[in-house]
Amino acid sequence: GHGASHVFVILGASGDLAKKKIYPTLWWLFRDGLLPPKTHFIGYARSNLTLEEVKKSCLPHMKAVAGEEGKLKEFFKLNEYVAGSYDKTEDFQKLNKAIEQRGSCNRLFYLALPPSVFETVTLNIKALCMAKGDKWTRIVVEKPFGRDLESSNQLSRHLAALFKEEELYRIDHYLGKEMVQNLMVLRFGNRIFSPIWNRENVASIVISFKEPFGTQGRGGYFDEFGILRDVMQNHLLQILTLVAMEKPPSTSSEDIRNEKVKVLRSIPCPSMDNVVLGQYVGNPHGDNETRMGYLDDTTVPKGSVTPTFATVVLYVKNERWDGVPFILRCGKALNERKAEVRVQFKDVAGDIFPAGEVKRNELVIRVQPSEAIYMKMMAKTPGMSINCEESELDLTYGSRYRDVKMPDAYERLLLDVFMGSQIHFVRSDELFEAWRIFTPLLHYIEKEKPKPIEYTYGSRGPTESDQLMTRTGFSYTGSYIWKSTSTG
Ligand code: NAP
Ligand code: NAP
Repeated sequence: GHGASHVFVILGASGDLAKKKIYPTLWWLFRDGLLPPKTHFIGYARSNLTLEEVKKSCLPHMKAVAGEEGKLKEFFKLNEYVAGSYDKTEDFQKLNKAIEQRGSCNRLFYLALPPSVFETVTLNIKALCMAKGDKWTRIVVEKPFGRDLESSNQLSRHLAALFKEEELYRIDHYLGKEMVQNLMVLRFGNRIFSPIWNRENVASIVISFKEPFGTQGRGGYFDEFGILRDVMQNHLLQILTLVAMEKPPSTSSEDIRNEKVKVLRSIPCPSMDNVVLGQYVGNPHGDNETRMGYLDDTTVPKGSVTPTFATVVLYVKNERWDGVPFILRCGKALNERKAEVRVQFKDVAGDIFPAGEVKRNELVIRVQPSEAIYMKMMAKTPGMSINCEESELDLTYGSRYRDVKMPDAYERLLLDVFMGSQIHFVRSDELFEAWRIFTPLLHYIEKEKPKPIEYTYGSRGPTESDQLMTRTGFSYTGSYIWKSTSTG
């Protein structure tokens, strides 16, 4: 046949990420016919596994349905598993041999491995497993990209010594989400938003991530990072850059990432009085799960001050945004699951209606669950009344795009790696700036161990967070009523 062959190597194929995300994603892409023809898959890890065993552990996550048995068999026929260490030359020679069995091919390496082995593994790939001739090699890495500016820079320097930036794909899976990708179109494909997207018109921008469950016995892992590293420094900050950036000269990945990094460079480190840190405690009236506070998780170190909730207000010191608070807010064990961007506009000037009746407009972009964009706006109360009331312009994806299947974030991103599109991946200078912004706060928490504010499992988080939001420029009236339709 025609077209180049591809080999996708999963390093750490015995692990959690591989079985829950990577293998299933490759299967969905294969099933839907989206991968280049002649793509083969090689799992690699130390564990002495058979392909059959790898298959068995992935299957529960692959959601194959009746009728797909043949396709599934075909998929696993294209798979093999190679056992080997992360530091021995012979083992990577063996891996290279296995890849070469497929002839001259493009090579993708997915590092589903703990950071402790990143350096030896990448050294070995560079020395022994790179594609030859006109074929390319791409390396996909997952967070954590270090734990602060210094460790991240060290990793970046290490990778930069081995690979070109265009060979490196740093995953932030939020960049694979429909509504995050939609921000560009929303902002730059609509005449109505661009003139009001600035400090003259916007009062505040709130970017939220809320999770309704706690650490569920995996707190030991979480405790090493905390919510700032787990969600805010990466996912929420990435969304911020897409909301705040200037229009790039084109939609090429370099043009877009140049604009994103400019936004980050305009953000000073947050001051401590613009930070609220929280940690959840059990709800005494709750069920078995919600009665457990963070410190009741036996895998969490006693007396840990790691935040499970954080609100941080950042400012973008440029001509467009100076003075507008970007309120980043995230937490575990809250009242709901939600990720959204909320652009709150300023009060109407020279208001002619009875005092307090007119509320601020808000544009809400709901990333998850059930994607939606809605603009909260004032309308006359229908009927004989002459009052005004809050209503909305509503684009709910579930009703507007009823039959569209939304691909999973990893599906888009892995396909991007095959296609060589880096738009939705984090460039090293973005990473540098993201750590620069948050490292002083992270070091302060590690050194001074400030006690986080307690909040109850299932609540909206500490009220101090609402107070911080109000103080910096977000206004909540509590008057908006959503009339849910069947699909909303
Ligand atoms: P994992 O299951 O702990 O590790 C993957 C594999 O690496 C293991 O099966 C093991 O394979 C090998 N390994 C584990 N500990 C090792 C050690 N100390 N030294 C050498 N090899 C070791 O990790 P994971 O959850 O799959 O995550 C992989 C990477 O993705 C990590 O960097 C993680 O932070 C990141 N990540 C994970 C998730 C997730 O949902 N799990 C989400 C986002 C990011 P062998 O013993 O067979 O060699
Ligand atoms: P809202 O209820 O007026 O809430 C606006 C913001 O105020 C939220 O970010 C909320 O925080 C915050 N807030 C809530 N209570 C507060 C308090 N006591 N003090 C300070 N801040 C407070 O408006 P909404 O959330 O945009 O809409 C209300 C409901 O309608 C939501 O469930 C929404 O999903 C639904 N709705 C759905 C659609 C659709 O599906 N297409 C369209 C419109 C509205 P939290 O984020 O912590 O709640």
